[in-house]
Amino acid sequence: MELNSIVEQVVKPEEDISDPVEKVYRTIEKIEENRELNAFVTVDAEGALRKAEEIRRKITSGKRLGVLAGLIVAVKDNISTRGLRTTCSSKMLENYVPVYDATVIEKIRTQDAIVIGKTNMDEFAMGSSTETSFFGPTRNFFDHSRVAGGSSGGSAVAVACGAVDIALGSDTGGSIRNPAAFNSIVGLKPTYGRVSRYGLIAYASSLDQIGPMAKNTLLTALLLQVIAGRDLRDSTTFNKPVPNYVEEALGKVEGIRVGVIKEGFENIDERVSRKVYSALDTLQKIGCIVEEVSMPFMKYALPAYYIIAMAECSSNLARFDGIRYGGKPVKGKWEEQLIKIRTECFGEEVKRRIFLGTFVLSAGYKEDFYIKACRVRRKIYEEFKVLFKNYNVLATPTMPVLPWKIGELLSPLEVYMMDIETVAVNLAGLPAISIPAGFSDSLPVGLQLIGDHFDETTLLKISYAYEKETGFTKWF
Ligand code: GLN
Repeated sequence: MELNSIVEQVVKPEEDISDPVEKVYRTIEKIEENRELNAFVTVDAEGALRKAEEIRRKITSGKRLGVLAGLIVAVKDNISTRGLRTTCSSKMLENYVPVYDATVIEKIRTQDAIVIGKTNMDEFAMGSSTETSFFGPTRNFFDHSRVAGGSSGGSAVAVACGAVDIALGSDTGGSIRNPAAFNSIVGLKPTYGRVSRYGLIAYASSLDQIGPMAKNTLLTALLLQVIAGRDLRDSTTFNKPVPNYVEEALGKVEGIRVGVIKEGFENIDERVSRKVYSALDTLQKIGCIVEEVSMPFMKYALPAYYIIAMAECSSNLARFDGIRYGGKPVKGKWEEQLIKIRTECFGEEVKRRIFLGTFVLSAGYKEDFYIKACRVRRKIYEEFKVLFKNYNVLATPTMPVLPWKIGELLSPLEVYMMDIETVAVNLAGLPAISIPAGFSDSLPVGLQLIGDHFDETTLLKISYAYEKETGFTKWF
């Protein structure tokens, strides 16, 4: 079936798109109503209206519309948008306006999506709760006193509150899946190399991926379909055909083998594991074969991830020196300027990571930390590959706990521990999805499904079958 007709038949947005201009006005009102959640850093009403008018003209003149026509998109603020401020939620880039669009933005614009604005995030995507943003924390949609998850917290909340249809996030160690779980939406981290990173402001280049977030599976599949594929401007993208994700998602799930990683359920909040086990029962009910598996190396993923991520960030963030990027130019020697700008404009968490990253790469320590972490990374990759010989997907909770109170986790280490379920996926470059698994104490829980390389289709298939069975889009 051709994509356009599938979209018309099955992926209809909730609201009528016959008047996109009207829809943009409604979106702006909705964002205003939900201002307290602090999901957006920048709202581009003017740009969105311009695009909506263009679509309106296409409709009246009978021109062919893109597959995202009329859908409102929120974009994480580390993805470059031409002419639209892109801050990474940092004082460093407070006034930075890119002169080009990221590849994913070019692609969604070509398909007639309406970009409504840029969403709040942890500074430079370093965090798990959107609390490290220079613009203040984003609030959880279900309990405003709690964190939204992170680092793509703004994107998740923009979707959950109904302001936008779809959103783009980025995931280095869980940043799409974590806030998706904390706000009861779908979030997918694609295989490393499936989606171009050109125009994504790098945190840790060997781990970063851009991915889709939405309330339902088919919109997630549709957005992935649009952004996936080879890009000559990102040499890590693969030259592999992009499947018709939307059509594939409608496929059967009978006989799909799901391996439940037992280590993923150790030492976690029982209110989370109970919900995730019952979601796994549902998978069994709809025809999946669910069995327990073991992944002994999983416990080493967290330390290996933080060493590698910090090492890479210390190098990636060197460009913010007030000369090439960031800050305001000041008079005086360049070394003084550099120190002043980096001291004033980076937040505490970013500085901590640059220090630690520089340390683990330094002569004399590199072998003990960075090189060892790279070896662990390889082991984790191999362990996953062995499991994928017998299973199509692997399952864990997305997060080990329920969304915490803003400010409640005091030490950085406590926050790092929250990534225990998600980081192994990035180390191995695998695709993974978080889907809603219900509520405990009125707070959302997410189920994480991990696929083999380039097998996003199986994840979407299960997600869609499970969505039909549970009706999770109607839970709120
Ligand atoms: N919480 C992880 C970190 O702080 C992951 C962040 C991300 O995926 N961008 O590094």
